[in-house]
Amino acid sequence: MNRQLSALPYREAANWTRCAPVKKRLIVIHCMEYPEKPNSAEWCSRYFAGLEGPAPKASAHACVDSDSIVQCVPWDQVAWHAPGANQYGIGIEHAGYGRQAVAEWQDPYSTAMLDLSAWLVAELCARFRIPVDFLDWQELTVQGQSAIGITTHAEVTRAWKKSDHTDPGKGFPMGDYLRLLAKCALDAGANA
Ligand SMILES: [Zn+2]
Repeated sequence: MNRQLSALPYREAANWTRCAPVKKRLIVIHCMEYPEKPNSAEWCSRYFAGLEGPAPKASAHACVDSDSIVQCVPWDQVAWHAPGANQYGIGIEHAGYGRQAVAEWQDPYSTAMLDLSAWLVAELCARFRIPVDFLDWQELTVQGQSAIGITTHAEVTRAWKKSDHTDPGKGFPMGDYLRLLAKCALDAGANA
């Protein structure tokens, strides 16, 4: 695929909030609760668009699988992905399930997907000047809407208690992902 933010395929979600451009501060990592298949990103974008049934009252900025990224909401607008953090958060969906064990996030499919995701998130961090710092629920709770960094839906749920989602799950290799992201961020920063 063409690794340029402006060249990503775009299929607009049905439900999101149009507003004045927001300077985003948080990247929120999700998983789809959908299998790791070659077309999972395309499927998820169709789901948000209401093409796989009634449109859900949910959306994310982008869906990622092992070989593609589909953007669903403009980066500086508000998607409905993590109540409490929607205003300043960019939501990124990944193929797979929150119940996956660490090894299931380290197979060739997941490795390719997390590579692609790290490229995307590094580009977004460069665009919005977001540092590659992980924020857990306690840091989110203390910093509130001024929190700036990388987090997960599970941490947002625990901080704001406005949903019950715990994705991407305990097996998600966040340490490896952040190391990859830090590497990609150097390149993204150099190209910015
Ligand atoms: Zn989620």
